[in-house]
Amino acid sequence: MIPAFPKVTMAQCETCGNEYDDCMVVIVGGRSHAFDCFECAIQALAPACARCGCTILGHGVEFDAELYCCDHCVRHRDSSANGGEGQGVLVAASPTDAPQSQG
Ligand SMILES: [Zn+2]
Ligand SMILES: [Zn+2]
Repeated sequence: MIPAFPKVTMAQCETCGNEYDDCMVVIVGGRSHAFDCFECAIQALAPACARCGCTILGHGVEFDAELYCCDHCVRHRDSSANGGEGQGVLVAASPTDAPQSQG
């Protein structure tokens, strides 16, 4: 059985204000939002890439509490017009020279 989505009668689109008798309802974080089309829903709810600013319609890539559109933007996130020196924290495991006991 297909779960029934909440039926909304004559709701107003949050983005463009169009009153539409078959609005879609998107629930985000427990709050419901009504839209007349996907375009308006995307414009209101879709996150933007923290680097290039494009709209993220898929899963995106979450890194350091920020959301990016793709792996490329994650890797190049520091080179986006902040002109400062990038102090990346690199944790490298130093190779240990453990002497092998021969016996
Ligand atoms: Zn709309
Ligand atoms: Zn991006």
